[in-house]
Amino acid sequence: MRGAQGDLLRLVAAGQAESRAELARMSGLAASSVSLRVEELIGTGLLVEEGAGTSRGGRRPRRLRLSPSAGVLAVADLGAHHARLGLLDLSGTPLVVEERPCDIALGPEATMDWIAASFEDLLLRHGPPGVPLRGVGTGIPGPVDPATGRVVAPSRMPGWNNFPVAERLGSHFDLPVLVENDANLMAAGEARSWPGRETLMVLKAGSGIGCGVIVNGALHRGRGAAGDISHVRVRSDSSVTCSCGHLDCLEAYASGAALMAVLGEQGIAVERPGDIVALVEDGVPEATALVRNAGRLIGEVLTVLVNFLNPDAIVVGGGLSSAEPLISAIRAAVYERCLPLATRDLEIAASRSGPDAALLGAGALLLDAVLA
Ligand SMILES: [Zn+2]
Repeated sequence: MRGAQGDLLRLVAAGQAESRAELARMSGLAASSVSLRVEELIGTGLLVEEGAGTSRGGRRPRRLRLSPSAGVLAVADLGAHHARLGLLDLSGTPLVVEERPCDIALGPEATMDWIAASFEDLLLRHGPPGVPLRGVGTGIPGPVDPATGRVVAPSRMPGWNNFPVAERLGSHFDLPVLVENDANLMAAGEARSWPGRETLMVLKAGSGIGCGVIVNGALHRGRGAAGDISHVRVRSDSSVTCSCGHLDCLEAYASGAALMAVLGEQGIAVERPGDIVALVEDGVPEATALVRNAGRLIGEVLTVLVNFLNPDAIVVGGGLSSAEPLISAIRAAVYERCLPLATRDLEIAASRSGPDAALLGAGALLLDAVLA
């Protein structure tokens, strides 16, 4: 029942439950299990109980609250050129989020040390006084082995292969450390925004392409590579060499980086995926055609996966996700080619958690690690 304490803490922190009875009802756990875990959470100082005692002759129910001094989590979502960094309280609510320029081409040592220094700076300027830091975590735009916390054969991250990212970040803090693929974090963050939808495919369409998979409400990592669709081969009339060295990977046609390269060749300057969205909104036909084609190619890959996994929803996040033609092209491809039973109740929609999805996911997974 790992994670159960985190779930209970989150229910209290979110104001959805304030008694053991409510926790039992909402979590589905037995009352005795809830009582045991609540006592443990009170013992560690994370939960406090208010209003104990009698009132007007009757016993007033005691109310559970997240302790205001329970702790904060420092989390980051690392991209190729920018990182989002934030402090969260233990309920996963952001206290502060900042975006800062960075450059992962500087290599893993410099980048991890920069993240650690940025966390220290955020704590100094925005950390609530007297509240301890309980854990640190970061998303990485490449494959991460969850058993070792090492990056494994990432494309477009020179010098990072086999680097012990978790160990390096942990060398700055004697605390639980979380290092996770960025699309997995985004999926874990989105999962809380889709009540009643237990199996999700969460596509990250940014500079790269990734996908996180939620099965029965929990992140499915496999051995670390689950959901990595970036190097699936796609059908195309032309032939493009991918950053991984193979021909015609999805990423080589449909990632933000690929679209930016094509637009650059056409003399249209763009610096980040959001610039492509702005071009589409301005009605620039080259950009709209490229985004629509990217959506079609992504949709064709997802077609296979939807028939195989039969998810409740495909959620599209990342810097390109607000480009409307991307999602409509994905929808068209999936609805045209998938089995009727697979699409009957399938929702295909843009992210509900927005640009902080990965930070929220990092907070949720890190809290589980802190409580473990
Ligand atoms: Zn490739």
